[in-house]
Amino acid sequence: MADRYPIDGSRDALWMATAVAPAETEALTGALKTDVAIIGGGFTGLNAALHLAERGTSVAVLEAADVGFGASGRSGGQVNLGLNLGPKALIDLYRPGPGERLVEAIVKTPDNVFDLIRRHQLDCDPVQNGWVQGAVTSRQLKTQERLANEYADFGVQFECLDRQGLRDRSGAHGFEGGLFCPTAGSLQPLSYTRELCRAAMKLGARVFTKAKVNNLQKKGPDWHLTTDDGRVTASTVLICTNAYTDDLIDGLKERVVPVRSLLMATEPLSDDLRKTIMPGEVTFVDKRRLILYLRYDRNGRLCVGDHGPMRDNFALSDYQRIKKRVVDVFPALAGVKWEFHWGGRVAMTRSSLPFLQMIQPGLIAGMGYNGRGVGMGSIMGRTLAEFALGKSETMLPFPLTHPKQFPLHQFHRLGVAMGIRWHGLLDWLETRRLVV
Ligand SMILES: Cc1cc2nc3c(=O)[nH]c(=O)nc-3n(C[C@H](O)[C@H](O)[C@H](O)COP(=O)(O)OP(=O)(O)OC[C@H]3O[C@@H](n4cnc5c(N)ncnc54)[C@H](O)[C@@H]3O)c2cc1C
Repeated sequence: MADRYPIDGSRDALWMATAVAPAETEALTGALKTDVAIIGGGFTGLNAALHLAERGTSVAVLEAADVGFGASGRSGGQVNLGLNLGPKALIDLYRPGPGERLVEAIVKTPDNVFDLIRRHQLDCDPVQNGWVQGAVTSRQLKTQERLANEYADFGVQFECLDRQGLRDRSGAHGFEGGLFCPTAGSLQPLSYTRELCRAAMKLGARVFTKAKVNNLQKKGPDWHLTTDDGRVTASTVLICTNAYTDDLIDGLKERVVPVRSLLMATEPLSDDLRKTIMPGEVTFVDKRRLILYLRYDRNGRLCVGDHGPMRDNFALSDYQRIKKRVVDVFPALAGVKWEFHWGGRVAMTRSSLPFLQMIQPGLIAGMGYNGRGVGMGSIMGRTLAEFALGKSETMLPFPLTHPKQFPLHQFHRLGVAMGIRWHGLLDWLETRRLVV
């Protein structure tokens, strides 16, 4: 049997090999009192910590493993604009006031992330050269055109690409056309996470690693969090555990389904290849239901991601399908060496949208990015911080919601495996014009 590697291990994760060193975090022993306790040390939790520390609030982050252990240190690192629903659908869903606030935040997401990086001088290889989305059918092209028009009303100028335009922008084969978003980009996700941690600590935030919260109880006005070795008391607790949510809070885990995604990266590509494959270091995704996503790292390695198996481990043979897919799109990659392979969990929600949920007064969760967590997790972190500081719900970018649970969540692996097959079949039929 082929060797198997844990998806939540870090075998061959490119980001581990090229990230800045981690900040020196603390071990939690004994008792600590703080204003805000944050569970989870990824983009969301550390953005929240940074914003709170900037405003002089005492804040402690509790991370079960190491900073960036979850999806944040494994991510594709694409900083994209948009959610699974477009502006009009979001405004219809959340009503004009809250819906418009959300869309206004979404359109500024990449700029906000890159501004934050500049402001705090986060050493994380930011590149803001734009994002190309390839459409495989004329129906997808129409959807893209509609979205471009909707976003134009909010001041974002997407460029609609015909077949040749898509080829010029990306070098990708097999697409009818696509969309170009100039403000999107990429970053080194593990470095971004570690640098957020460093910046937050510099401003006074305390970050505890190997500090899994096993118990959370409200006693009087405060929340009491217990780890194996210590205790934290806080008036507000922010839950930032996304696809790594465990059983700590009744009913929360059931609101997200962790879907496994696999990534791999090439050897550094030659200048000639880089001139033809995603020239100008744009990022790329296709518009299939089961998306393929690509970006370069700072050494010219091409990183490619796709869905993974619903096991907790992967074998290198799981990548054959992804290699075939990527060579179909970029035939010049046929002979390159793939040097890094890794994976992680993506949190999907029933609505396909992230949620901000007040579970109880003083206990707030923000998660469910459906694969858009670099930008949206950053915005959510700031939103959680603002909410904790008392900003009115009516001023927040994310509306407070009570997201639906997945029924029969304990069988989610089976459900996801069936969903992947179904979506794969629809993608296949659609590209062969067998369904419209
Ligand atoms: C392979 C892959 C590729 C992706 N590519 C992209 C991309 O290109 N662009 C994009 O926008 N998004 C992408 N995503 C999604 C994005 O990475 C995530 O949405 C984002 O990282 C979520 O950040 P987070 O801080 O909310 O959660 P995480 O980074 O997952 O952090 C949650 C943390 O909570 C900790 N935790 C859980 N329970 C406890 C507990 N009881 N006590 C203490 N700590 C606890 C975990 O250890 C974990 O570190 C990708 C995800 C994966 C897996």
